[in-house]
Amino acid sequence: MDAASSHCGMNSFPHLLSPLDLGFTTLKNRTLMGSMHTGLEEAENGYDRMAAFYGERAKGDCALIVTGGIAPSEAGRVAKGGSVMDTMEEALHHRVVTKAVHEAGGKIAMQILHTGRYGYHDKIVAPSPLRAPINMFKPHPLTEEEIMRTIEEFATCASLAREAGYDGVEVMGSEGYLINQFIAKRTNQREDDWGGSFENRIRFPLEILKAVRKKVGNDFIIIYRLSMLDLVEEGGNIDEVVYLAKEVEKAGASIINTGIGWHEARIPTIAMMVPRAAFTWVTAKVKGHVKIPLITSNRINTPELAEEILARGDADLVSMARPFLADPMFVKKAKEGKSEEINTCIACNQACLDHIFVGKTASCLVNPRACHETEIVIRPAEKKKKIAVVGAGPGGMSCATTLAERGHEVDLYDASSELGGQLNIARRIPGKEEFNETIRYFRNRIQSTGVRLHLQMKVGADDLIQKKYDEVVLATGVSPRIPAIPGVENSKVITYADLILKSKQPGKSVVVIGAGGIGFDVSLYLTDAGHAFTKENYWKEWGIDPSITQNGGLTTKVETKSDRKVVMLKRSNSKFGSTLGKTTGWIHKTSLEDRKVEQISGVEYKKIDDRGITINTKAGERLIEADSIILCAGQEPKRDLLPELERAGIPVHLIGGADEAGELDAKRAIEQGTKLAAKL
Ligand code: FAD
Ligand code: NAP
Ligand code: SF4
Repeated sequence: MDAASSHCGMNSFPHLLSPLDLGFTTLKNRTLMGSMHTGLEEAENGYDRMAAFYGERAKGDCALIVTGGIAPSEAGRVAKGGSVMDTMEEALHHRVVTKAVHEAGGKIAMQILHTGRYGYHDKIVAPSPLRAPINMFKPHPLTEEEIMRTIEEFATCASLAREAGYDGVEVMGSEGYLINQFIAKRTNQREDDWGGSFENRIRFPLEILKAVRKKVGNDFIIIYRLSMLDLVEEGGNIDEVVYLAKEVEKAGASIINTGIGWHEARIPTIAMMVPRAAFTWVTAKVKGHVKIPLITSNRINTPELAEEILARGDADLVSMARPFLADPMFVKKAKEGKSEEINTCIACNQACLDHIFVGKTASCLVNPRACHETEIVIRPAEKKKKIAVVGAGPGGMSCATTLAERGHEVDLYDASSELGGQLNIARRIPGKEEFNETIRYFRNRIQSTGVRLHLQMKVGADDLIQKKYDEVVLATGVSPRIPAIPGVENSKVITYADLILKSKQPGKSVVVIGAGGIGFDVSLYLTDAGHAFTKENYWKEWGIDPSITQNGGLTTKVETKSDRKVVMLKRSNSKFGSTLGKTTGWIHKTSLEDRKVEQISGVEYKKIDDRGITINTKAGERLIEADSIILCAGQEPKRDLLPELERAGIPVHLIGGADEAGELDAKRAIEQGTKLAAKL
């Protein structure tokens, strides 16, 4: 055995690519870009756009990229029209992608994803005819003949991927997709050789791996993504996981990747409120049982954390997916000792997963160029201008830094003593501390791009007119709306901004007016038990069994009821939480349910007085006694400087909340700021 394979324990297939062949020679090189469906797979000019997207990440020194899932057959597609690789013609389309990555010095593996009962179309298949709780379509149960054909389709797909120039494939065996559906009792009720005992249920992935290895030969990477913690009832336990990992190694896999949680699991696994690196201990449980390298994943978003995980020996390699949307240069910056300059993924899901769930191309809240590399192009300015940006919230910071990067002379003003605008409120919500990273990133970028920053300077139109700017960008944001409720001036009424920024002390019984994103966040803030943000507390709150001896790794939740009584009110009759993010709204809703927060819709506000608030609903008039009433009733744009600047004939641009307060969020503010700056 050579030094490389002995270091990495590659003995079952000594001629396979070892991690060292992949360039995993230092800790910082042991980082992979994990698979993400971006929607580019199906987009117009998708292959060219994927080439630009992945090519940029390869230039950023990522050791190995895994693509979004590509189905081995029509039945395995994510949705109608979803990407499939089952012909040479399809394979040839991918060559532009693999070429771009190889030219940039990178390596790329294609993920083969058969969605099984998760596919969003009417031709879906599964081991048993059981509809997924998150899907309206019921699957057709595969016959034995169809199972054999499906195995063959995986193998053909892998060999076509090789023809397309990929360096390997990842066989997706986790997250509750088809392979996982065969493995778990929950979804496999077959009585033939593919169901019943655990040995029978894992036959499907093992036969796939053997068939793939046979077809692609030995000098091709096969990653198997193994569900190590299902987080659903009738899921697996650690003994089964270890047994499967050993069999996967024997069947021909080169590397095992960690999968955590099925899509239908009711436990958050990658959202912002999940502590960082909350699952590497799961991979560590498999360490030592196999000789091939193990990859760990989930909520790992800084190089320091990745280093720590590798140094501790939880895994041999670290996979990050969303962090590469946020910053294509992640690895390069880490290698150069510039991790402070990394644009950190804050795990908000707002522009990546939430987009995919509504059929939009993915992007990134903190980096709107992600997956739009060919559309948002930042070029040096043709004519250098003197530009003022008023407001250093996310909109103003992204605009000012992009303008300066293009060569403009930029002054950025803010009345506050700190950068970040309303992100300074968001970052104080328990579980939203990641917004600190966005502010840190922009603080460094302001310095490196040469933006002249003026904090604690509330500017008036006169100041701007006197300084003779060529252009002025108003990123002055919003102010909390004060609804016209009789008695709203009562001293027990506090705006969300004053509650959090001025640390006003609410009483033990609180009414929250408004149930948008801010109403939910404020209710979480009010009912937070003050527990440290650790993985141990997170396991207790969500009912995760750290021994994984119970099926699916589930256990009983520890009660999180708050000692403060909170009632949320809203006027409309729609469901509470219907305006929240697709992939995170359910988490906020569950947390507030667990904390016994009362929610009343269809409310008419009658009056506020020293006793509390009187409302009218279908059930009649009711007084809700309260010590404090928090206003989260939306926002109004702040653009009072606009008329005077326009009268002075200065070209003025509005972005973020100053432009439109309705449906405002940091995603829109940053995108608008970047896009405006790209064209000024
Ligand atoms: P703002 O952030 O409001 O910044 C405007 C800045 O302009 C302020 O700093 C202000 O001091 C300055 N300014 C105003 N007038 C002047 C002047 N005359 N001179 C100098 N400076 C001036 N969004 C998300 O996308 N995801 C979330 O999870 C999220 N969570 C949130 C949680 C809470 C509790 C809150 C309150 C907001 C949250 N948001 C979230 C919303 C997000 O913070 C805002 O949408 C975003 O900050 C708006 O950006 P902006 O740049 O338009 O303005
Ligand atoms: P919002 O989502 O528009 O919610 C405003 C709430 O106030 C609604 O519940 C509305 O409900 C109520 N309201 C509006 N006008 C009112 C009035 N005149 N009197 C009484 N109630 C009134 O806005 P937001 O909660 O202020 O959040 C602002 C933005 O920040 C949002 O667009 C959101 O995207 C973003 N944000 C995002 C997150 C996130 O996690 N992604 C978190 C926080 C904030 P009724 O009309 O039914 O009463
Ligand atoms: Fe990360 Fe949010 Fe960007 Fe998605 S949108 S990559 S979660 S920062």
